[in-house]
Amino acid sequence: MSLNKLTLAQVSWTNEAVPKSEQFGDFYFSTDGGMAEVEHTFIQPNNLPQRFAGLADKQVFRMAETGFGSGLNFLMTCDLWLNVANETAQLHFISFEKYPLHNDDLAKAHLALPGLVTLAKTLQENYPVLLPGWHDVWLFDNRVRLTLWFGDVLKGLPECDGSECSKVDAWFLDGFAPIKNPDMWQPGLYQQMARLSHLQTTFATFTAAGDVRRALEKIGFTVKKASGFGKKREICSGQLSQQRPYSLKTPWFSRPQPVNKRSSIAIVIGAGLAGGAVANQLAKAGWKVQVLEAEKAIATQASGNLAGTVHPLITADWNLRSQWYLQGFESTLRTVLPWLQESQADSKVLMGNLSGLVQLAVTQTSAKRVTEAIERVGLPKNFARLITQAQATEIIGTEAGASGVLFPNGGWLYPKAVIERCLEDEQITLFTDQKVKDITQIDAEGQTAWQVSTHQQVFNADIVVVATGSLDQHLNKQLNLPIRPVKGQVTHLTSEQQALELKIAVTHEGYSTGCGQGLAVTGATFEAPDMSQELSLESHQANLDITKVALPNWLDVTAEKVSGRIAFRPTTPDHLPIVGAIADASWMESAYLSQSHTHAVYRYEKQKYQTGLYVSNGHGPRGLMSVFLAAETLMADISGTALPQPLSLYHASHPARFAIRLWRSGKK
Ligand code: SAM
Repeated sequence: MSLNKLTLAQVSWTNEAVPKSEQFGDFYFSTDGGMAEVEHTFIQPNNLPQRFAGLADKQVFRMAETGFGSGLNFLMTCDLWLNVANETAQLHFISFEKYPLHNDDLAKAHLALPGLVTLAKTLQENYPVLLPGWHDVWLFDNRVRLTLWFGDVLKGLPECDGSECSKVDAWFLDGFAPIKNPDMWQPGLYQQMARLSHLQTTFATFTAAGDVRRALEKIGFTVKKASGFGKKREICSGQLSQQRPYSLKTPWFSRPQPVNKRSSIAIVIGAGLAGGAVANQLAKAGWKVQVLEAEKAIATQASGNLAGTVHPLITADWNLRSQWYLQGFESTLRTVLPWLQESQADSKVLMGNLSGLVQLAVTQTSAKRVTEAIERVGLPKNFARLITQAQATEIIGTEAGASGVLFPNGGWLYPKAVIERCLEDEQITLFTDQKVKDITQIDAEGQTAWQVSTHQQVFNADIVVVATGSLDQHLNKQLNLPIRPVKGQVTHLTSEQQALELKIAVTHEGYSTGCGQGLAVTGATFEAPDMSQELSLESHQANLDITKVALPNWLDVTAEKVSGRIAFRPTTPDHLPIVGAIADASWMESAYLSQSHTHAVYRYEKQKYQTGLYVSNGHGPRGLMSVFLAAETLMADISGTALPQPLSLYHASHPARFAIRLWRSGKK
C-alpha cells in the first residue's frame, strides 16, 4: 500500500464559524443548523435511535462514513450512543477523510456546535497525527472506537476487512454533492459498500442524485427518497436487500475462524515482551492465561535490556514497514502511557519515559532518509520535528554530532517493568523453568485443544500462543517460522562514566539513553552469525565509537571499564514481525503450493489454519513498537472481532506470507 502526502483542508469561515471547503466550494454542514441537518439526514433515516437502544450486551455496532470533515456526524452519533446504547456495547465508527482539517480548524469548526462542547473537546484531544493512512482511537471509556483513514476513501475502503465480524451496519454517505465531487462517487465506492455490508445494513445520504440512487440499487440496496433539510430538496436512504457474491483477493490471508472457549484456558509460551503483551490482552478478554517460560525468570532474552527506545520508523518512501511501525507505535502509546502515569504516581520501579526522543542523522543516508520522508508524506510537528545540530545539543544536554529529528512522543522503556505490568492480572499465572518439549493438538470433547509438555509438567488449553523469540529454533522450524537470532551487545554506563545525564533518549547508528538511577545504556551491535554469549571488548569498543560520533562529549570511558549485556533479537527476512494463526502446512501445500500460481484468484480456497495455534514472534530490535499491536491483532483473530489495522498491514505480518510469496513469484 503506497500512501501519498496528505493535503490538508483549505477552509474559509462564515460569520457563524461554519467552515467552507475551498477545495470543493461547499459548506461542511448547513448554515441553517448543522446539528438538526445531521439528525434529519443521517441519524433518523438510518434508524439509529432504535437500533442503538436495542443492542445486546457487548454487541458492536459498526458505521462507516465518507468524509469525516469536522466530525459533526461522528459527534452527533456519539452523543446518541452515549445516551441510549448499553454501556457494554461498542460503537465502531470508521471514517475516511481525503483533506483532513488542521487541528486548529477542527477546534474552530466546533465553535459552531455549542451543544457538543464536551464531546468535541475529547475529539480534539484525541485527533490523530496528520499522517496518511489508518489511525485508531478509543474514546469515552472505550465505548467508542474511531478508525480514521486519512486519504482518499476509494483507497481506504479496500483496506477494510470484509469478513462477517467486520461488516458495516450503517453508512453515512457524505462527501459533497456528486456534481462538486465526482471523483468520489465512483463505481469503486459502491463495490466496496457491497463487500462490506450485510443484509440489515442501511445507508443514508444527503444527495438524491439519479446516478447515486441507480448505483446503490445496482449493488442490492433498496432506495427511498424523502424531503431534505432546509434548502435541500430531497435526500435518500435504504437497506441492503440482496447480497452479491464477491471473490477474495488474497484467500491465503483470510481471517481464521474464532475459537470456541471450552476450558477458557490459554497458554502463552514465552515471558518476554511479545508473550507479556498477548497474555495481558487475553486476560482482559476473560481468558485464564498460563504463561510458560523456559528460564527461571521473565525477560531473559531480547526483552531483558535495561532500556529500549520507542519511536516511529522513518523510511524515505514511507513503505509498509513505516506504516506498520506507525500503527505499532500508536498502539504502544495507547497501552503504556496510562501505565507510566500509574507507575509514576506509585513511585514503583521506573518504567521509562515517553516525553521525547531525538534521532540524530549521523550519516548522509539517515539525513537523506528523513528529508525524503518529509517530502513524501510530510511529517506533522506533533509527530516529528526537524531540529538543527544546535537545537539537538540543547535538547539532549550535551553536544550533538549532527542535526536530527525530535519525536515528541518517543522515549525509552524498561522492558522488564513493562512485562511485569502486563502480567499483573489475576487471570494470569506465570510458570518459570518450563522448557517446552512438545506442542500437540488433542481432541477435547469433540473440540480441538492443545497439550503443551515441558520437561516438568503437562499443560492443557483451548489455545496456544507461541512467543518464544529466536533461541528455540527447533520450535520455530516446526512452525515454519523463518526467524534468525541476531546478536546484540549493549554497553552499560555508570553515572561516573558519563559527563552528565542525557536529558532525553537518543538514537543514531544505535541508541543511547539514561535508564534511571544515573545509569545509561549505549549500543547495540548487530552480529548475525555470532552465537557466543560472552561480552566482547570489540563490541563495547564499537558501541563507544558510534556513541562518540553522535555525542562526542558525553562519555569519558574506555571499553575495558564498562559492563554490558548480550541479547539475541528474533529477526525475520523482511524485518516485520510474524503475527497470527499458524496455517495448516499440509493443507496449504495441497491447496496452494502444489498448484499453479497463475490461476485466477477465485479458484483458490480460503486459508485453513491449525485451530487455536498462534504466533507472535520476529519482533527484532523493535519489539517495543510492535508487540502491543501484534497482541491486539491476535486478540481480534482469537475472538473473531474487527482488526486493529488495515488489511495490507495484516497481510504484511501474516505467518504464511513467506511461503505464499515464494509460490506467487513462481520460484517454488
Ligand atoms: N461528515 C462531515 C462532518 O460531519 O463534518 C462533513 C463532511 S463534508 C460535507 C465532506 C467531506 O468529504 C470533506 O471533508 C471532504 O474533504 C471529504 N471528501 C471528499 N472527497 C473525499 C474522498 N474522495 N475521500 C475521502 N474524503 C473525501
